[in-house]
Amino acid sequence: MHEQDFTERDIYVTGTLVWYYYICKREVWLMAHQIKPDQDDSNIDLGRFIQEHSYQRDKKEISVGHIKLDILRHDKGRLVVGEVKKSSKYETSATMQLAFYLLELRQAGVEAVGELMFPKEKKKIKVELNEKLISTLEEAKKNIVRIIYQEAPQAPQKIAFCRNCAYAELCWA
Ligand code: SF4
Repeated sequence: MHEQDFTERDIYVTGTLVWYYYICKREVWLMAHQIKPDQDDSNIDLGRFIQEHSYQRDKKEISVGHIKLDILRHDKGRLVVGEVKKSSKYETSATMQLAFYLLELRQAGVEAVGELMFPKEKKKIKVELNEKLISTLEEAKKNIVRIIYQEAPQAPQKIAFCRNCAYAELCWA
């Protein structure tokens, strides 16, 4: 397929792909092409554990399509939804992923603001949709589609994240 044939309706950009887009474009391709990493990876398990054991009190969720977010509270007619992350190290990724979910909610008729929560650091960051954030997100989504339609992933590039990446063996064995 040639680049000019790309259309967003052919594929589905997910929040997870948005997250990885800001970390490693090769990983976006690998994930989108359903190349399975090692599921026993301890970092993946830790992420799941934190997600399952943090902020469990008053847990309510909202689902839109494939998205499931924790509802924290209502604020001036808007929902406040939260996402738990194990570290603020990848704050841009986390912010853009949550913005992606907020936009999906808006498109489903639900106005919401987001809160990123880093329980280990006792830190919270507010994420609110505005024109600039939406346009950055739309640009990222287009680029993700372009990456996915490439015939092969980009060559691996050593970054700090590689140490914790489930694809490390595939990239660096
Ligand atoms: S190991 Fe590194 S280069 Fe390979 S997919 Fe993961 S982050 Fe990207």
